[in-house]
Amino acid sequence: MIILTADHTPTPPVLNATLFIISAPSGAGKTSLVRKLLARFPRLKLSTSYTTRAPRPGELNGEHYHFVNQETFERMITANEFVEYARVFNHAYGTAEATLRSALADGIDLILEIDWQGAQQVRARFPEAISVFILPPSLQALEQRLRSRAQDSNEVIAHRMTAARTELSHYHEYDYLIVNDQFETALTDLMCLIQTRRLRRDYQLAHHRAILNKLLAAPT
Ligand code: 5GP
Repeated sequence: MIILTADHTPTPPVLNATLFIISAPSGAGKTSLVRKLLARFPRLKLSTSYTTRAPRPGELNGEHYHFVNQETFERMITANEFVEYARVFNHAYGTAEATLRSALADGIDLILEIDWQGAQQVRARFPEAISVFILPPSLQALEQRLRSRAQDSNEVIAHRMTAARTELSHYHEYDYLIVNDQFETALTDLMCLIQTRRLRRDYQLAHHRAILNKLLAAPT
């Protein structure tokens, strides 16, 4: 929060940028929505997580994830390098604290696409983070989307559907809920959310201080 002193000179912001946590059951369309968001907003980045799972076809190391082995992941845990980490679908996933700190220090809003366990840990460390849960319109639609991706076996899809129910049961821990029935509507909802955050006084002052100083300057 920014405090205006009696002469209207704002004190520096405590936090220069916003952390957005986005969670959803696998197949709810979170990744496609986030990709579109990144293309529409300047100063918005997606955090690249670390994972022990193998890359899927087309996934690039350092872009979709930092793909590391179990030993490296455990070394990073011991070195306290993660702001959060969790086991999801039998693999480890984590967000490096360095990724988060450097984006925020540069005034870049950061999206963390993480599961409910990670969201709980980030909220505990950064209570000002804004969290969003993306809901599918139905379980049938979710399963249909998982099948149409044609990336996973029947067994993996069944496992993901069980995990989806667990993920869904944590919806109430989030600040915002968005139903991804119509993609464009869900995208507009997400865009409004980011834009609204950016219109807040503290954010506007951090980015438009020069305008304000000129507007409030004593007449010459
Ligand atoms: P996928 O393997 O399909 O890319 O991701 C599986 C799940 O892991 C998704 O629900 C995704 O949100 C979650 N996930 C991805 N990266 C992270 C992370 O860094 N931390 C946590 N806690 N979950 C993650």
